Amino acid sequence: AKKHGRDGSAWFEPQMESDARFRSALQTALRHGIERGEFIPYYEQQIDIQTGKLVGFEMLARWKSPEFGIVGPDMFIPMAEEMGVIAELSERLIAQALQDARSWDDGLTLSVNISPLQLRDPWFAHKLLRLLTESGFPPQRFEIEITESCLHENMGVVRAILTSLKNQGVCISLDDFGTGYSSLAQLRALPFDRLKIDRSFVTELAQAGTNAELVSAIVALGRGLGLPIVAEGIETDEALEALRALGEIKGQGYLYGRPEDAEATLRRLMEQAAR
Ligand code: C2E
Ligand code: CA
Ligand code: CA
Ligand code: CA
Repeated sequence: AKKHGRDGSAWFEPQMESDARFRSALQTALRHGIERGEFIPYYEQQIDIQTGKLVGFEMLARWKSPEFGIVGPDMFIPMAEEMGVIAELSERLIAQALQDARSWDDGLTLSVNISPLQLRDPWFAHKLLRLLTESGFPPQRFEIEITESCLHENMGVVRAILTSLKNQGVCISLDDFGTGYSSLAQLRALPFDRLKIDRSFVTELAQAGTNAELVSAIVALGRGLGLPIVAEGIETDEALEALRALGEIKGQGYLYGRPEDAEATLRRLMEQAAR
């Protein structure tokens, strides 16, 4: 039921996903995969685009399944959410990432993506801060990324969670900015520290010119809210140049490198240090 893409990763045809038997096999595999530690963190570089300096990494989950190959998060995160195992999966991944990040240079940050479902748990901040304490990784170098869909959750709970994390020094980013439908008033109700412009805007930045206006408007909007900007999905020199013209921005994307596992990430850091 599975095919392999050119990069060796597994992909699935839409009708397969709707196949009930296939789905239930996948769910069983996912449940076992969590227990067997098949879910592992990959890391994508985050760069200060003015200086070209590495500032940190975003953790992106991968599933190394013996049955299905390397599966991407767009496939298994929604499944884990439906199955009610997203919190457990996420906590394991974060614990592993915090271990990995201990060998990184001082000052580098670690970003992780958080499902809106995790923000339903009033104990979420407590659990996350405990993971940080156990690992010894400084909260000041830790960041969570959440999307606008968290605005559909209980705002009292969400605000309390984000505020207590922020009070401990954790950075709160709004991910995929520009793709949601929330108003600026809604966004201001939560204590965000920065905005990540969705890659759909950035990817096309090199072409035409219309999107350049749009991206510059989004950057202006972010600055109006008093928030620093991170651009994701930088694939070309043209997109990078267009972003550089907009001032102080951090960025990430395939131009700087694909997400890599912990070992390759560490090798990259050692090579950089040796240079
Ligand atoms: P995201 O947070 O918006 O992450 C960026 C996605 O874009 C990643 O896909 C990354 O590999 C990809 N990307 C980065 N640079 C480029 C580029 O230049 N061009 C293109 N075309 N793509 C680029 P990935 O790793 O497949 O992750 C997809 C989504 O899965 C993430 O989107 C995030 O929302 C979610 N995700 C990943 N890990 C976790 C996790 O541990 N927990 C939760 N809740 N969600 C996760
Ligand atoms: Ca993200
Ligand atoms: Ca994003
Ligand atoms: Ca996304």
